[in-house]
Amino acid sequence: VVCCLKLLLLLALGGLTMHVPDADVLAPLGLGALRLDGHLSYHDVAAVARDFGNRCSMLPSAVLHPGSVSDVAAAVRRVFQLGERSPLTVAARGHGHSLLGQSQTAGGIVVKMESLGGSGGGGAKMRVVHAGDGGSRAAAPYVDAPGGELWINVLHETLKHGLAPRSWTDYLHLTVGGTLSNAGVSGQAFRHGPQISNVNQLEIVTGRGDVVTCSPEENSDLFYGALGGLGQFGIITRARIALEPAPKMVRWIRVLYSDFTSFTEDQEALISAEKTFDYIEGFVTINRTGILNNWRTSFKPQDPVQASHFQSDGRVLYCLEMTKNFNDDEADIMEQEVGVLLSRLRYIQSTLFHTDVTYLEFLDRVHSSEVKLRAQGLWEVPHPWLNLLIPRSTIHKFASEVFGKILKDSNNGPILLYPVNRSKWDNRTSVVIPDEEIFYLVGFLSSAPSLSGHGSVEHAVNLNNKIVDFCDEAGLGMKQYLAPYTTQQQWKAHFGGARWETFERRKHMYDPLAILAPGQRIFPKGS
Ligand code: FAD
Repeated sequence: VVCCLKLLLLLALGGLTMHVPDADVLAPLGLGALRLDGHLSYHDVAAVARDFGNRCSMLPSAVLHPGSVSDVAAAVRRVFQLGERSPLTVAARGHGHSLLGQSQTAGGIVVKMESLGGSGGGGAKMRVVHAGDGGSRAAAPYVDAPGGELWINVLHETLKHGLAPRSWTDYLHLTVGGTLSNAGVSGQAFRHGPQISNVNQLEIVTGRGDVVTCSPEENSDLFYGALGGLGQFGIITRARIALEPAPKMVRWIRVLYSDFTSFTEDQEALISAEKTFDYIEGFVTINRTGILNNWRTSFKPQDPVQASHFQSDGRVLYCLEMTKNFNDDEADIMEQEVGVLLSRLRYIQSTLFHTDVTYLEFLDRVHSSEVKLRAQGLWEVPHPWLNLLIPRSTIHKFASEVFGKILKDSNNGPILLYPVNRSKWDNRTSVVIPDEEIFYLVGFLSSAPSLSGHGSVEHAVNLNNKIVDFCDEAGLGMKQYLAPYTTQQQWKAHFGGARWETFERRKHMYDPLAILAPGQRIFPKGS
């Protein structure tokens, strides 16, 4: 109701008449008359007024289900033609897995990007090109994927060709355009960089409604701007993603540490070594008993008797997680290589666990947790997540203050902690990272299933604020990933002088009326 009233007021200020409800809202603006391959709908506005964070709801006026890239361009162009006095904005929505309304718009148009993908019925198909196909430009294999395609579908399609993307997120039910607008980070990033370092070309609908193809060679300013660009410069309708031969199997290993220094030194040695694992991440557990028993039952301890005597006793423990890829005929070599790598690590010897799974099972691992949580009604609860990037030089100071002091337990969700190297991130993209060669991704992935007490949003947000305040006061050089800032002042500080100037220049160039991705709250329309 508040959103509708706000829209009425805004339209009145813009000198436009409006008839409520539904389709009539957009008819006078010429949007209802657009000739589309897909369609605009009004009955499902509530469904896109929410996201994974479950803490913010903005009602749009309509949902565009594009049947083609031209539909997206036509809608944005029409909104652009309405000029700056019109309050209408356009929010591309991937899978709606944002945390605080980033893919929403109050009173504007939500573009349901999944409709554009093959699975959404929009007809845009994925195209896999093998190495050597199409002349010298295809020296390495790639896939052309619609911007609204889920990564799990990209994986299924490329596996049919024995290929797969090189860099991932931990969870694959996210869209190509959604993660490329942030960065896309997981345990492969130390080797291949984030997902935004593995894109050859993009097709983008700008904030003027133009369809532009861009790459490092062509329209490179838009290409780099859009990667990590929080949806500010255009809607990604297609991405050309680099591929590599896909392994069949994965040896998936976990070991525990009680000493933070040994844990991080081992992680850093592994990500810096020439011969190493294919995936490296880490987790922190605080004051949780029986954590060995809570691990996936398929994880086999190397020494079950010793492992059964292991007592976590509520301590702070650090879990190093690694994988080694292999094909059926390479099991022996894999065993040898893993043995050599593990022999250099200083984990608690009784806590070596491993399991062998297919590559698909490993990459899609978080989905099985989703299924279990959904069954218990625990997936669609609020998620007050906090994701930080902490320089190597301050990670110890961070850990000694946060783990066990600010945070007394980790019962509300996993805490990720693993290093990546800056040289694998392209400085020309829009993403903001710490100014040091090695930095850590630290993710506090809290759920808030109750209305009060330890499981509440209020409790989690309070702890998040304490952590962020500590980082700022101690001058740790921290940057937030998936940052939930709400004012331009905060965004300016996040980007810092020169980077902010570039970001602002690109906004004026590609989306001068600030139509796109208003939910990021960086450039309010009409300001
Ligand atoms: P949405 O949330 O729908 O959109 C995100 C932003 O991008 C919005 O501003 C939207 O307007 C804009 N946008 C969407 N599509 C497009 C497009 N085609 N073109 C331009 N702009 C667009 N991130 C990681 O990096 N690593 C992880 O391991 C990881 N794991 C996750 C696990 C879970 C369970 C969840 C919920 C999220 C995880 N994320 C991770 C975060 C994820 O990258 C973000 O949620 C991201 O927003 C992608 O979600 P989405 O595709 O649903 O995009």
